[in-house]
Amino acid sequence: PRFTVAEIRQSFLDFFAARGHTVVPSSSLVPANDPTLMFTNSGMVQFKDVFLGTDKRPYVRATSVQTCLRAGGKHNDLENVGYTARHHTFFEMLGNWSFGDYFKRESIHWGWELLTQVFLLPPEKLLATVYHEDDEAYDIWTKEIGLPPERVIRIGDNKGGKYKSDNFWMMADTGPCGPCSEVFYDHGPHIPGGPPGSPDEDGDRFIEIWNHVFMQFDMQPDGSVKPLPAPCVDTGMGLERVAAILQGVHSNYEIDLFAALIQAAARETNSTELDSPSLKVIADHIRATAFLVADGVLPSNEGRGYVQRRIIRRAIRHGYKLGQKTPFFHKLVDDLVVQMGAAYPKLKEQQAHITEVLRLEEERFFETLANGMHILDSALADGSQVLPGDVAFKLHDTYGFPLDLTQDVCRERGVSVDEAGFDAAMQHQKSTARAAGKFKMERGLQYDGLPTTFTGYDSLQEDAKVLALYADGEP
Ligand code: ATP
Ligand code: MG
Ligand code: MG
Ligand code: MG
Repeated sequence: PRFTVAEIRQSFLDFFAARGHTVVPSSSLVPANDPTLMFTNSGMVQFKDVFLGTDKRPYVRATSVQTCLRAGGKHNDLENVGYTARHHTFFEMLGNWSFGDYFKRESIHWGWELLTQVFLLPPEKLLATVYHEDDEAYDIWTKEIGLPPERVIRIGDNKGGKYKSDNFWMMADTGPCGPCSEVFYDHGPHIPGGPPGSPDEDGDRFIEIWNHVFMQFDMQPDGSVKPLPAPCVDTGMGLERVAAILQGVHSNYEIDLFAALIQAAARETNSTELDSPSLKVIADHIRATAFLVADGVLPSNEGRGYVQRRIIRRAIRHGYKLGQKTPFFHKLVDDLVVQMGAAYPKLKEQQAHITEVLRLEEERFFETLANGMHILDSALADGSQVLPGDVAFKLHDTYGFPLDLTQDVCRERGVSVDEAGFDAAMQHQKSTARAAGKFKMERGLQYDGLPTTFTGYDSLQEDAKVLALYADGEP
């Protein structure tokens, strides 16, 4: 390939460092300063307080390569993995920031320079979007950069909810906000999908690569905006998406790093169909789950730990679908370390620990997986189009199938799940469990009266084993 993933990371940081930006390391997937956010889902998360004015840094320009997770939480791309060419749960975001320093002109010009002069992307394959009222950005693209007007698309704020695209960014309901300008790459007419702002913009022909957010307003509780005293810039570009372009492939899953992980997943599942969506899911999920463990998130039944558990179990179920009936997933940690250990030493340092956490979770789930799949298959054997809610709940409660895993299986078969029925069964169990809670407390079990994927006392011991790995302190 012309640029490896490692070379792209370095070129990006070097480019912005040479333009006065301080290189800031990636922060953890677990946000340090925001308990309301499940996971770090973009490069700006670690700078949030700087934008709000409650944190000061010794620099006004920054650049980073940030590990991000979009699974569980506001941004959730879990359901896209295996279906689109461009989405991962875990990915790396390249970003540059201005904290009250430069604004639209520099951000757009530098971005364009990097794409066309350093990465040598053909300008005629690039498009830009701007917020429909942002004439300033529109003029920079058309008059200064020289993009033909038909390739600069005005996008609204999606208040009518017509299409998905939305070029007005808000940190929250109030506070810093402003227009975005995004750069798209046209992978060619042989791929289905329309340009941004069109009804079929969700296709994979025109792929969004870089979002430039221009924070220039302060949203008031009444919905009016005041200008920010010092406008800021926040940009994010998906490393894997640029890598796909620079390596001459369409899908993120074909880049060097993913090709290696997919090979490894095929090896561990004895698969020969390298195009299988299940291999993509496994390759994606080993990154997400390994990085989560490295950042201290262990599989559990609540909060972040439950998202971790859901991702691990989804991966295992895909391996099972490919015919692998015994633990395999943890073996991919070594391959991941080969691919990403140099850029992320914590993976290498915690290699044995990560492998062990995944192995225990895998052994545990393999105990119930086959029986659960049997129940699911039987429930659908009559050709019904909806899986009953009580079956989905039983799978959740007794067989450790998170609802989204059951939905993933059903989606493959064109069947839906009765979610309302699932919720009702869950509610019913909650009230029964609360009544029983006192009794269990007396028996000395730690029990909070909440429903869990309770699979018996062995499971509690397994949890204790995982927790014991942490007895010597945080990794
Ligand atoms: P899309 O519309 O394709 O879902 P997005 O608008 O949700 O992308 P942003 O929130 O603007 O993405 O994030 C900035 C950049 O991060 C995107 O332009 C893209 O390059 C990258 N990115 C976003 N989500 C993912 C993902 N799930 N996997 C890989 N890269 C992503
Ligand atoms: Mg998205
Ligand atoms: Mg988008
Ligand atoms: Mg975007």
